[in-house]
Amino acid sequence: MNEEAIQGLKPERVWHYFKEISAIPRGSKNEKAVLEYIKKTAAAMGLKVKQDKVGNVVVSKPASPGKEHSTTVVLQVHTDMVCEKNREVQHDFLKDGIKFHREGNFIKAEGTTLGSDDGIGVASLLSLLEDKSLVHGPIEGLFTIDEETGLTGANHIEPGFITGKIMMNLDSEEEGVLYIGCAGGLDTTINIPVKRKAVTGKNAVLNLMIRGLKGGHSGVDIHLGRANAIKLMTRTLLAIDSKTKMKLVSIEGGSKHNAIPREAEAVIIVPAADEAKAEKAAAECEQIFRNAFASTDPEVKVLVEKGKKAKPAFDDKSKLAVLDALNALPHGVIRMSSDIPDLVETSTNVAVVKTSAAGVSVVTSQRSSIESEKEMIASHVASVGKLSGGKIKPSDGYPGWQPNVGSAVLKKGKEVYKSLHGKEPEVKAIHAGLECGIINDRVGGGVDTISFGPTIIGPHSPDERVAIDSVEKFYKYLTEFVKSVA
Ligand SMILES: [Zn+2]
Repeated sequence: MNEEAIQGLKPERVWHYFKEISAIPRGSKNEKAVLEYIKKTAAAMGLKVKQDKVGNVVVSKPASPGKEHSTTVVLQVHTDMVCEKNREVQHDFLKDGIKFHREGNFIKAEGTTLGSDDGIGVASLLSLLEDKSLVHGPIEGLFTIDEETGLTGANHIEPGFITGKIMMNLDSEEEGVLYIGCAGGLDTTINIPVKRKAVTGKNAVLNLMIRGLKGGHSGVDIHLGRANAIKLMTRTLLAIDSKTKMKLVSIEGGSKHNAIPREAEAVIIVPAADEAKAEKAAAECEQIFRNAFASTDPEVKVLVEKGKKAKPAFDDKSKLAVLDALNALPHGVIRMSSDIPDLVETSTNVAVVKTSAAGVSVVTSQRSSIESEKEMIASHVASVGKLSGGKIKPSDGYPGWQPNVGSAVLKKGKEVYKSLHGKEPEVKAIHAGLECGIINDRVGGGVDTISFGPTIIGPHSPDERVAIDSVEKFYKYLTEFVKSVA
């Protein structure tokens, strides 16, 4: 099936290598076999291979005669892939190769991720390293590990592992677009201690739920203005609190630091006489949210169910500390870029809230393509946490890749694209992570970097597919670009 799918496709060697690596399971943190394949293949080409402790591989290809003094170019790809499949599909990502077929202008897998992110990059780099006809300066082919679940390879590159001062990252997903920046990020966790007190008298326990939100990726989708379930729950609780003698028992919401929370739950206790008032306040909130988020989250629901006996509730001081903190925490876009149209420069996501015996913990995540702005928004979040008596735990985070619109490589890249395709490429940056900023940071900075790739639709999902014609255009562009910087 794979053989048939790539029959007659160009560039022939790129598709050949894509077929080869697709047969090797290579989910994140399981790259050993594919790295062995890359090392063996490069050695068979007579090229020098180095591997570091975490597994990253660099293949050095000497310059063509007469081009020895050109700047060394690093061509960078990641070797792992996201492993997702449709529920009904039988596939063991640790044992089975990826099966794919042709669908019009696309190559698509059989109900699993395809791994064209970044398998086309890996295949293209192998093909370029093999090509003896290409005239070029010194090349370092950098194959990293575990980009998708921790940026582990990039985070462990040692200074000196690569020496080139120009880098082309082959891991973006829109042919005809040159990427020149991405966001850095970090998580800030706030732990708010709470005191509990038994609630006496005739009471009603109510379980509140926020449902029906779209959520999304906290980098790629943050500018869409979708509702945050934790924020809506907080507003609902504050509304009920203003009309009843509400006690808060717990609040939960969200599941991942890099996702906008879609669902949230809370348990409250109100005097039996206030039960109807609480229900009415929740119903009013639902109407308010339906109106405010009519186009982004039309299905939003605020549900109230009768609960059973609850644990002792937070005392009033703890309740207000938690609700005020959640209410004051910023969420969403903080600033748009002034250099690149439509690019979110800085954002923050109120991602996860959990209640435990010790108190309430809130995980938030900040992103910015400008390092100092990332620190600024993280400190803003930390201040809110501290004002509520919380303890702050920041994560290490990773550096962004600040767009440099004056980059020499960008200028060259635009010229080459125009001479090949007769039109200017688009220049963009993304508000999510790429390895470029981290690698640059690890090797001491000063690497003029650009990222481009073929057109991949639906990456990270079983819908992933790569546009066949874009692979040919991308590879042609890559080789011309490499030639032109020599
Ligand atoms: Zn990728």
